[in-house]
Amino acid sequence: MIANSHNSLNVLVQNFDCHNHSIYSDGLLRPRDLVELAKQSGCDALALTDHDNTGGLAEADAAAVELRIRFIRGVELSVTWPGRLSSTVTADINPITIHVVGLGIDPLAPTLMSGIASIRDGRFDRAQQMGTSLANMGIAGLFEEAYALAENKDMIGRTHFARALVARGLAKSVGAVFGRFLTPGKPGYVAHQWASLPAAINWITGAGGVAVLAHPGRYKLSKQEMRELLREFKETGGRAIEVITGSHEKHQYREYAVLAREFEFMASRGSDFHGHGESRFQPGSLPLLPTDLVPVWSVLQ
Ligand code: AMP
Ligand code: MN
Ligand code: MN
Ligand code: MN
Repeated sequence: MIANSHNSLNVLVQNFDCHNHSIYSDGLLRPRDLVELAKQSGCDALALTDHDNTGGLAEADAAAVELRIRFIRGVELSVTWPGRLSSTVTADINPITIHVVGLGIDPLAPTLMSGIASIRDGRFDRAQQMGTSLANMGIAGLFEEAYALAENKDMIGRTHFARALVARGLAKSVGAVFGRFLTPGKPGYVAHQWASLPAAINWITGAGGVAVLAHPGRYKLSKQEMRELLREFKETGGRAIEVITGSHEKHQYREYAVLAREFEFMASRGSDFHGHGESRFQPGSLPLLPTDLVPVWSVLQ
């Protein structure tokens, strides 16, 4: 461990990975195996942040105690922004899906529980529509194959369809699928209304957690629209953004560090690991945060 002398909080520079998935959403590893991998990879702390559910946290928690690695309870919420009740400023922005990570949450908090249950509702119907959309393009039977690949049937999503398309030989890799299928304007894409941004942030903060904007560089927004998102995220109670993430190119590390400073957000670092062969970074293997930024874990218990 190296003392971080640039930071007034004197937070130690540690290898925290605050964004990872397990089979409880669209990851490939059991929570226990993910924790073991993080330990082997030299992480000091690991967050499990499955999409829209907290089912894997207890198993990961127990494994982390056994393996003596710090564990952060997390979740990654699917949000549609701007939402239906958008302000006059955002009224002209086309709604997109964004992700908000909650760190340090109480997974039993009732409003978070009911909130994420409401997000999960509709995934099954959406998946059936995705299957129909692909069938209309001549790719029949994909729903059944994707459904079979989803360990947690409540959480059937695009990654399972991507794996099914790769298994059929219709794409080389899960990453390659998204250039040709499952994204706006492409076969298999079905628009969906997720949670609103204020609701998602309130569920996280109501559960004692810190709301972190996930992989901002991935969103198809103009510079001005991004600033509007960051402004609203901050105003609504969001406190951090991912700066170093497996979804960012190197130049985006710098761009989002600049925005974190300007908007006075804490910074997060996470691989967004889903499984071997599918992710650019193993848990904990990303570059460290710029030393002048306040790491989001400085406010986690
Ligand atoms: P869903 O919540 O069903 O819309 O699925 C979203 C998931 O699809 C994300 O969490 C990623 O795991 C995966 N995904 C989306 N876009 C890409 C991409 N360009 N490359 C790889 N995986 C992606
Ligand atoms: Mn995912
Ligand atoms: Mn995400
Ligand atoms: Mn993720």
